[in-house]
Amino acid sequence: MPFFSKKRQEQGNSEQGGQRRECQHPTLAPRWDSAADMGKRDKVSMYRCASCGGEFGAAEGDALIARQEEARGPLGSEEGK
Ligand SMILES: [Zn+2]
Repeated sequence: MPFFSKKRQEQGNSEQGGQRRECQHPTLAPRWDSAADMGKRDKVSMYRCASCGGEFGAAEGDALIARQEEARGPLGSEEGK
């Protein structure tokens, strides 16, 4: 299929250092096996990255999210300062 080479060219032009780096999975969307469990964070069955499409188990996704929250710093805890 010729689509790929075209797409690759466009990406090459717009590449601005870091595009090729490993995905940090900034947008992990939780998935639930059962609709009844939707919204319950401890019932998440897996996470899916909206950036790279990677899928992660609940434990792995939780760890990634925790790491991201840590990197961002504590949000909404300014009152404690
Ligand atoms: Zn990702």
